[in-house]
Amino acid sequence: MAAKMLRFVTLAQGTPEKRPPDKRRRDFGEIYAEYRPEQAADQAARCSQCGVPFCQLHCPLQNNIPDWLMLTAAGRLEEAYEVSSATNNMPEVCGRICPQDRLCEGNCVIENAGHGTVTIGAIEKFITDTAWEKGWVKPIRPAREREHSVAIIGAGPAGLAAAEELRRKGYRVHVYDRYDRVGGLLVYGIPNFKLEKDIVARRAKWLVEGGIKFHLETEIGRDVTLAELRRRHDAVLIATGVYKARDMQAPGSGLGGIVQAMTYLTASNRKGLGDTVPEFDSGKLDAEGKNVVVVGGGDTAMDCVRTAVRQGAKSVKCLYRRDRENMPGSMREVKHAEEEGVEFVWLSAPEAFDGRTKVATVVAHRVRLGALDATGRGAPVKVEDSTFRLPAELVIKALGFDPEPLPVLFKAPELAVTDWGTIKVDHRTLMSNLDGVFAAGDIVRGAALVVWAIKDGRDAAASIDRYIQAKAAMATANARVTAVAAE
Ligand SMILES: Cc1cc2nc3c(=O)[nH]c(=O)nc-3n(C[C@H](O)[C@H](O)[C@H](O)COP(=O)(O)OP(=O)(O)OC[C@H]3O[C@@H](n4cnc5c(N)ncnc54)[C@H](O)[C@@H]3O)c2cc1C
Ligand code: SF4
Repeated sequence: MAAKMLRFVTLAQGTPEKRPPDKRRRDFGEIYAEYRPEQAADQAARCSQCGVPFCQLHCPLQNNIPDWLMLTAAGRLEEAYEVSSATNNMPEVCGRICPQDRLCEGNCVIENAGHGTVTIGAIEKFITDTAWEKGWVKPIRPAREREHSVAIIGAGPAGLAAAEELRRKGYRVHVYDRYDRVGGLLVYGIPNFKLEKDIVARRAKWLVEGGIKFHLETEIGRDVTLAELRRRHDAVLIATGVYKARDMQAPGSGLGGIVQAMTYLTASNRKGLGDTVPEFDSGKLDAEGKNVVVVGGGDTAMDCVRTAVRQGAKSVKCLYRRDRENMPGSMREVKHAEEEGVEFVWLSAPEAFDGRTKVATVVAHRVRLGALDATGRGAPVKVEDSTFRLPAELVIKALGFDPEPLPVLFKAPELAVTDWGTIKVDHRTLMSNLDGVFAAGDIVRGAALVVWAIKDGRDAAASIDRYIQAKAAMATANARVTAVAAE
């Protein structure tokens, strides 16, 4: 199948430069191919400066998109970078992987007038990549150092955005992560063809150079307790993401060759990073030459099908219980997957897996959409006598994620969580029920987006700063009262 895959280019305007192909990619283009400066300027000049910045309003960070488009069109790229980086800690990441069709670009008035959106994400990426190249990304140098320290649990986008903001204010920032690399899902979840790993590593190195201390391979709960962190630091931010994979129980679901999406994607990402991955090398987590069935319809499922295609799978099918209109994943991702040869089997659900020790066949049935459920979508109802079979030597379950039981893992039963297991916070301050313990990102929202994690990290940092300053002011006032009383 891979040999037949179509080359695709999705930038609406302009001819992108081709990137050198990586080892396994044969005839793929990339989503965000490179712009030349004149292409970026031409594209940015398409912005009508409409006066009602719907794009900005639909960007979770409220990025000042019209201004940086205007500056890009005028060739004033350094200023464009300054405007774009003022509200976003990782514009080069968001430019690559935000689902712009649901956010800024989907609300561009030019798009809505039927002329094709201004490619905001690709320009944001171009501006920031240029800034890195030209040395415009300045080191973090706080105006003054503060004695207070903050612990951040989790080096994903929420934790990193908070770490940068707090370090800029002069706090001593310690980031703890159980992984061996900085980036969270940016490194081990999202595939390299969407977000190159050196882009994340460059940010991480820059944060280290700015004075942020990373304690990697340190799992809170196992290596250090939450109580210990609270003793060591003036405030704690929990930004641990959500990692408990949803599962399905069906006859044969214990067969070999049936794996969780994160297991599959992590192996692929680690392999790309040059790690030794025995389960990939043994073929267990490698799709090459196999019929692959991915179960699920979200962005994780899209990443799995597109990774399998790049690994040289014989066939790749995506089994989803609703239809195209009701799937949670980005339509743009579905389109890319289809262009690459992925077959979508809509309105279908697995009911069993056949095979001796390893899976050989997925037994599935057709589904119709019934009355609306709690999500506002038609609930899937089995169609009788509609069973069909699909050959599959690799089945990847991409059914979504729930939070891990943090109060148990952190040995902190007093930490309040919602019915969904996300951390309960005061939404104005992002503080949990524990004094000085804040939370941000997916562990508060449930599985969401990188751009939302960055927004939460920024908001949490501002709130932590207010909290520490208020405490310090209170301590000073109390000390004065005590001194006066003693006189
Ligand atoms: C496969 C996949 C593809 C995705 N693709 C996109 C996309 O294209 N665009 C997009 O916008 N979003 C995408 N997302 C969603 C996005 O990655 C997340 O919303 C975002 O990463 C959440 O950021 P976070 O900082 O809250 O958590 P994470 O990125 O999950 O980071 C959490 C960090 O906490 C660490 N941690 C957890 N528990 C502990 C502990 N006990 N002790 C120490 N460290 C701990 C983890 O190791 C991790 O590094 C995708 C998600 C997945 C799974
Ligand atoms: S951060 Fe995301 S939503 Fe905001 S302008 Fe950039 S690509 Fe668009």
